[in-house]
Amino acid sequence: MVLLGGGAREHALAWKLTQDGATVHVLPGNAGIPNSHPEIDVLDFAAIQGFCEEHGAKLLVVGPEAPLAAGVTDFFAGSDIRVFGPGRAGATLESSKVWSKNFMRRHGVATAMSWQFRSDKLEEARAKAAELNGQVVVKFDGLAAGKGVYVCSSVEEAQAALDDLAAQHSGWFSFLLEEKLSGPEISIIGVTDGNRIRLLSPSQDHKQLLAHDQGPNTGGMGAYCPVPFCDDNILAAIRTEIVDPTLEGIQAEQFEFRGFLYFGIMLTPQGPKLLEYNARLGDPEAEVLLPALQSSLLELIEATLDGTLARCTVRQRPGHYVGVVLASGGYPAAGFPTGFPITGLDQLHPSILAFHGATRRNETGELLTNGGRVLVLVGHGAELEDAVAHVYREAEKVNFQYVYLRPDIGQRPEPTRIF
Ligand code: ATP
Repeated sequence: MVLLGGGAREHALAWKLTQDGATVHVLPGNAGIPNSHPEIDVLDFAAIQGFCEEHGAKLLVVGPEAPLAAGVTDFFAGSDIRVFGPGRAGATLESSKVWSKNFMRRHGVATAMSWQFRSDKLEEARAKAAELNGQVVVKFDGLAAGKGVYVCSSVEEAQAALDDLAAQHSGWFSFLLEEKLSGPEISIIGVTDGNRIRLLSPSQDHKQLLAHDQGPNTGGMGAYCPVPFCDDNILAAIRTEIVDPTLEGIQAEQFEFRGFLYFGIMLTPQGPKLLEYNARLGDPEAEVLLPALQSSLLELIEATLDGTLARCTVRQRPGHYVGVVLASGGYPAAGFPTGFPITGLDQLHPSILAFHGATRRNETGELLTNGGRVLVLVGHGAELEDAVAHVYREAEKVNFQYVYLRPDIGQRPEPTRIF
């Protein structure tokens, strides 16, 4: 089979699918992922097709959002290559925040109140933000690599966010003002064929750069699963208020959705509210969810494409999984240096998984840093504290110049009351 993508999420996917018995070619992959083919770009669909034909691959699994939003699934429709990942319409659940908000509304999915504006109505948005005392979230409508969301706490901050939005984008654009919610966030990710869904373990990522959720947002500095406070009552509420109406909506609107569906959820005092959909596995959630998954992912994927998901169950391994990102110092700001040798991976305890996010090899075969989120180390333990202690102890063995890791992954204080 062929897997598209080149980060730690794809390394975890390739690792899991190989364990399940598949032969996996990864396009473009990276220095740590076996069978990587760096010459092929994830947006070059003709080259991907040529590669699949040359290698007799009949299954294509898509890791990142960009090829989904660009229509890779639609490109292969009608061919004998089956794609695990939604078509362009399904991917719009992620790529357009206005469209997905309207979808949530049409189908009664619990979410924050919101108001939609176009760029020529900036003054109306300013008035609305002032009326809400600046307790708003401003969201640009489109893929903005995690930089299109401004969480505001005052009228001044909201006005500054709207100024920035106008400065960042030219021409026509749409955006949302959302009521600002509060509460712990969790990620719920499932495998779906559009009719049924099989949920993986609840997980939590750590988006901000610094300890105690301070500093700028990143692609994610670490994740853990399961989430101890996410009990059956909470999961039942998520199911009835968010997951089930979403599936009913997908069926009612008749768009193809065979792939991972991600629900970014805030547990507010009024119940769970959906912040966003992603049309793919989360990263760094994948790096803990896939080791925690006992069932065969390959079987789940094939059942999704065959329409036999109803016969599948999802079994999780016992215990807890914690993934810590080893990042390049200076990330996520632009211009941080890379190209530093990585040492110590061969010293890791055999129970630790090391997924490569951004690595390359030089002419002599030396492993070098090659981006912001360089590696994700994943530890396992009977209790969450065991997994945390184990992974941090092992992380000390791995080194490269200016390495940075967040010291508190998996250590958020438990919320006292949810809803
Ligand atoms: P991601 O990187 O998760 O794809 P994104 O740019 O698509 O992010 P969202 O997930 O919609 O944007 O929002 C990013 C973050 O902003 C959320 O994880 C949450 O912390 C915060 N946020 C979003 N909406 C709200 C809201 N209504 N109230 C409070 N905080 C919010």
